[in-house]
This record gives sequence, structure tokens and C-alpha cells, in this order.
Amino acid sequence: MDLSELTLDREGLAAAIACEDAAFEAALREEAYRVKLAAVGPEVYLRGLIEVSNICAKNCLYCGIRRDIRCQRYELSQEEVLATAQVAADLRFGSVVIQGGERSDKAFIRKITRLVRAIKSIDTGDDPPLGITLSLGEQSRDVYEEWFDAGAHRYLLRIESSNPDLYRRIHPDNHSYDRRLQALYHLKEIGYQAGTGAMIGLPFQTAEDMADDLLFYKRFDAPMIGMGPYNPHPDTPLTLSAAPYPSTVRRFALGLKMIALLRLLMPDINIAAATALEVLDPHGREKGLLSGANVIMPNITPREQMVKYNLYDRKTLNASDVEDLKEAGIVIGYGRWGDSRHFGHGRS
Ligand code: SAM
Ligand code: SF4
Repeated sequence: MDLSELTLDREGLAAAIACEDAAFEAALREEAYRVKLAAVGPEVYLRGLIEVSNICAKNCLYCGIRRDIRCQRYELSQEEVLATAQVAADLRFGSVVIQGGERSDKAFIRKITRLVRAIKSIDTGDDPPLGITLSLGEQSRDVYEEWFDAGAHRYLLRIESSNPDLYRRIHPDNHSYDRRLQALYHLKEIGYQAGTGAMIGLPFQTAEDMADDLLFYKRFDAPMIGMGPYNPHPDTPLTLSAAPYPSTVRRFALGLKMIALLRLLMPDINIAAATALEVLDPHGREKGLLSGANVIMPNITPREQMVKYNLYDRKTLNASDVEDLKEAGIVIGYGRWGDSRHFGHGRS
């Protein structure tokens, strides 16, 4: 396939996703990088990732911290989260992501509300207060509102797969695609920058499914996308079912290609180079940035707990690796929220 033949409709996207020609894939990534520079500039925004807890009420069939997996559970204390957020402020990251297993008990909900308020009052010197993204799964509209009113302004909730049949195959029976979608619309109505995404290279997933994921992001008009390769965890039902999935090399190439195609489809949104890329290639995130991504999420979770947040076998980018990115010529947007231009708030 030649780049000049690429069309951004379902058929064209699926053909590009299915095409394994290395020259085509390289040309596509170069074009996406050019479009990124023109649409959002060379800056890369940082989100300090704080994995607040690996306790989860859900049982997604692919996830290494699902409810029924036997693993050591943890929950960071208020003080630990605040000390970690202070590290993000001191490093001038500009924003933090509070991510964790899904829980809807009152104690957890209130704790997050208090944390969001406290993080907003952290001393950031001359920079604006830290921007806060939450990624804590499906919650009621009231809870989303409570957290928004406390000061969170972005929320990441992946659709995981935009194909309801595939969604059903990778989740237990009590999960609902429609509820997931409803939650995404609630976030949007409340005023969050509602980010979403899907896993790439899942068992049963076709090139058309992946094309549909990209078109779903466009239809939802998402200001930010965090999508990444599926990485099997040995003890999950999806891995144990022995359903085939693409090789490591293919899933990595697909991860970069999806970033590149999305950049062409939605030039001015924020696209994260996901942690899952780094697991498949030691320079995964750098390559993600060179394929059109403009956000990275260095993991600043205290190390002792980080190893317990074991979604899949992984290595994580930590704060010092950011220096390596600078050496590779990547421009870091220090001390900025780095909101999506697509959302148009025009904040710092
Ligand atoms: N519990 C929240 C949720 O599900 O939205 C946030 C935390 S959850 C661990 C964050 C993301 O991890 C999920 O949206 C899912 O896409 C991703 N994830 C889980 N298991 C994975 C795997 N085996 N490979 C790649 N990504 C995975
Ligand atoms: Fe829980 Fe999120 Fe993992 Fe699903 S993906 S089991 S909701 S942590």
C-alpha cells in the first residue's frame, strides 16, 4: 500500500491497519509526526501517574488486578498521594493522573474528593495549580460531579473496544457496554475533558474493529485519547483461554500505527504514548511520540506499591527517564496543564 492511497474512512483505515508493509508503516508515522507538529506543535506534556490503589470491584477478563486475581492489594494513604503529587509539582510536571481499580464505596469516593481538593492547593511555585486527571472507572453521575466540583478537570475512561460484541467477550456478564458509554457521556455533559481509548491487538479483534475504534473517537469528539497495545497477563481468563492474539512485534507496530492514523484523523487532540508501548519496546514511548503522540505519563507511584499494580508484565517510565527524552530532542512542556487544543479552554 502507498501512503497516497490512504483514505480516512472505515475501509481505508482498515486497509492501512491490515497492511504490514514496513515502508508504508514508516511513511505513515512520518506523515503523522509532520501533522502533529503543524497542529499542536513540538511540545510533549507530562502527567505524573499515581496508581492510588489496586483494589478493584470489577473483573475484566484481561486485567492483572481484576477482583478475582490473587495478588497483594494496596491503597496509598492520603499522605502518600499528597507527597507523590508534591514530587510531580517539584519536577514541574504540570498535571497528575490519579488512576486505580474501580470502587464505589463511600469511603473511597470521599477520600478521592478530599485528595483532589488537597492536590489543588499544593504549592507549585510560579506554575498554575496541578491539573488533575482521574481514571477510576465507571461511577454515578453524582460522583463524577462531586469530583469535578472538587477540582478534577479531565477523566480517562477507555471504551476498551467500540465493538459491543468484542466488549462482551472480554468482560464478565455483569459488565455493560451501554453503561460504559453512558458514563462517557455523563463525563462530557458535566464538563470534563473526557478521554477514552481501546486496547490494540486483542484476541478476536479485527482490522475493521480497530478502524471502528478510531471512528468512535472521532464521533465522540474526544479531546484526548489514551490507547495502547494489549499485553497479556499470565493469570487472567483471557490469557488462559488461549485465544490467539498478534505477536509482540505486531502489537507494537499496530500501537504506533493507531497513534499515527488517529493523528491524521484528529490533528489537534492530545494523544498519549501509553505505558503499554514501553513494555513491548525499550524505546516504545519515544517511538510513540515520533508517531504522533504528544502526552506521556511518567509513573511516580512509590516504588514499593508500583510493583503491585501489575496489570501485565511491564517496565515503567519513571521521572528520571524524562531526562532521556530531553536528550533525544523532545521538547517537554514543563509546568503546564497541556490541555487539548481540541477542547478549546485555552488554559496555560
Ligand atoms: N479501573 C479503571 C478503568 O478500568 O478504567 C482504571 C484503571 S485500569 C487498570 C486502566 C486501563 O488498563 C484499562 O482501561 C485497560 O485498558 C488497561 N489494561 C488493563 N489490563 C490490560 C492489559 N492486559 N493489557 C493492556 N492494557 C490493559
Ligand atoms: Fe478493574 Fe480497571 Fe482492571 Fe477492569 S481494567 S479489572 S475496572 S482495574
